[in-house]
Amino acid sequence: MSEFNTSDFMNPMMTQTWSNGRHEVRCVKVIAETHDVTTFTFGMNQPVLFFFKPGQFVTLELEIDGERVMRSYTISSSPSIPYSFSITVKRVAGGKVSNWLHDNLKSGDQVAVHGPVGQFNCMDFPSEKILLLSGGVGITPVMSMARWWFDTDSEVDIVFAHSARSPRDIIYSRELEYMSSRIDNFQMHLICESTGIGQAWNGYRGYLNYHMLSLIAPDFMTREVFCCGPEPYMKAVKLMLQGVGFDMDRYHEESFGETPVKDVELAEKHADAAEVENLQPKEMVQVSFTDAGQSVAVALGTNLNEAANEAGVNISKACGVGICGACRVKVISGDFEMAQNGGISEEEIEQGYVLSCCTNVIGDIEIDY
Ligand SMILES: Cc1cc2nc3c(=O)[nH]c(=O)nc-3n(C[C@H](O)[C@H](O)[C@H](O)COP(=O)(O)OP(=O)(O)OC[C@H]3O[C@@H](n4cnc5c(N)ncnc54)[C@H](O)[C@@H]3O)c2cc1C
Repeated sequence: MSEFNTSDFMNPMMTQTWSNGRHEVRCVKVIAETHDVTTFTFGMNQPVLFFFKPGQFVTLELEIDGERVMRSYTISSSPSIPYSFSITVKRVAGGKVSNWLHDNLKSGDQVAVHGPVGQFNCMDFPSEKILLLSGGVGITPVMSMARWWFDTDSEVDIVFAHSARSPRDIIYSRELEYMSSRIDNFQMHLICESTGIGQAWNGYRGYLNYHMLSLIAPDFMTREVFCCGPEPYMKAVKLMLQGVGFDMDRYHEESFGETPVKDVELAEKHADAAEVENLQPKEMVQVSFTDAGQSVAVALGTNLNEAANEAGVNISKACGVGICGACRVKVISGDFEMAQNGGISEEEIEQGYVLSCCTNVIGDIEIDY
């Protein structure tokens, strides 16, 4: 229940607007979307307008078993409903935060979030014709966009193709059906990898491919594309579009980071169209983690987090795009390139710190970690 008067909402003097930063928010709703996906809605104790660009994300800062952990989650709601915002989380097998949220976070709980941030959003790439492509929980950013266009009575022509493992895995299925039944400029297409015994299904089956896409959106070459899903899914989509000469300046994608092994196995089936990468022998460099006493040889240009993974060193990470600062480490010596997005200060950089998620090694390097 809200702790403030409804009239406070109507009083501009009482209403604040959030901006990028750290915020203490309160969970106000928990909604089971599917058997392994839950939406958590957050608000504040005073009226706050949560403006953001549809597609952007927040980073949750939590304390689990005495350890501070950070994970990023896309805002799945739309800024057209601005007094709260939601995230939609899928359980990841063996995952620390996703399972903790499902098992513990309840209405009334307070959590800290950083954000909103993110370049993958529909406001910075306006277009009259859109193609939204998503796989699994990758639906969250494009759902926020779809909700925004729907709620604002936009005339944007939207084709939305979502891939799920089976009908029971389709997130927001009833809302998608509702939206597409209400307006002509919203065409929804669902693709299921398989159907369970006795499950009725009259949508597409299998994996998104060129033939299917041509049926779903015959004019896809003229649309702005927003894509989010497992890495192999996005890779297949990208290769497919590149293969037909699509203008890739009009292709935008969001990565949720490394795909858990189980998901890779399943999602790789999407990658029929994908070709084997050009496997040239690469120059190798040595990455050493002095505290951990580990060292690994990796190809020149390897991301520092990947090098740490290979060396069996676990660096905390969250957003994966140099925004949240969770993966900061200190370089003792060596060569690197960092492409951060504001998650580290000039002072920290001068002191030798880097954000490992967005740092590539370009020479032998020693890390104090
Ligand atoms: C910009 C952005 C937006 C995102 N939006 C969403 C969203 O809307 N919804 C959503 O559900 N997710 C989203 N994610 C993903 C999310 O941030 C988390 O990565 C996800 O929830 C998994 O976190 P976890 O803590 O549960 O798993 P983790 O604990 O990080 O584990 C991930 C996997 O790695 C395995 N693993 C962990 N440690 C080890 C180890 N030492 N050795 C071997 N294997 C290990 C685990 O078993 C698991 O399979 C987003 C990510 C980003 C970067």
